[in-house]
Amino acid sequence: MLIVVGLQLEIGWLPPLITQSGNPRIQIAAPGYFDASQYAQILEIPTGQVTRAEGDVHPLGNPHYWLDPENGLRIAKAIQNKLSEMRPADVAYFAQRYASFEQRLKEADQKWLAEMKPYAGRKIVTYHRSWPNFAKHFNLDVVGYVEPRPGIPPSPQHTLQLIGQMKREGVKIIAVEPYFDLKTPNAVARETGGLVVVLMPSVGGEKEITDYFKLFDYDIAKLKQAFDATR
Ligand SMILES: [Zn+2]
Repeated sequence: MLIVVGLQLEIGWLPPLITQSGNPRIQIAAPGYFDASQYAQILEIPTGQVTRAEGDVHPLGNPHYWLDPENGLRIAKAIQNKLSEMRPADVAYFAQRYASFEQRLKEADQKWLAEMKPYAGRKIVTYHRSWPNFAKHFNLDVVGYVEPRPGIPPSPQHTLQLIGQMKREGVKIIAVEPYFDLKTPNAVARETGGLVVVLMPSVGGEKEITDYFKLFDYDIAKLKQAFDATR
């Protein structure tokens, strides 16, 4: 079984790997190929014609959908079903593991929602469009991006517009994924009296983020700190 994020997020490297694996069970459309995006709520699905030639790396909708715990639960349920199909003798075991995950995730989510409640509706800017699902679930308002479009590096003109917008709307937080250069975000923060906060979009982004629960623990703690520091 191969679990993929899909929506072309892995398009740069995964297709040749699948072919070269020579494993018939995980080829695209084979029973062991599991595209998690089919079970999640996908935001920002383009309505018009979008091609990667224009530089947009989100041509099929936003692929960062696991940053909403409700999507995590939907995907876990689909994985349970798939595993049960592949190993019917272990159906009870997979059901028990899912039930445990569901209970722990729902409990954690109650805690996360309570922690984020004081900041409901707060406006933030992010570097890349990684956070629409997170923002929807935790009631934040992402009003601008350091990148003019997903996958397109910042331009001086776009950066000036963003600074103007942040000043007008009183936006103080610039959330940046760990793999982007901090030069432009830092310049925007200086101009706006804002704060750059590096948030992790995935498990493993920091040593301490060893699972899905710790990912939200980490990002929510960082965000709370940033909101409190820019009150
Ligand atoms: Zn992206």
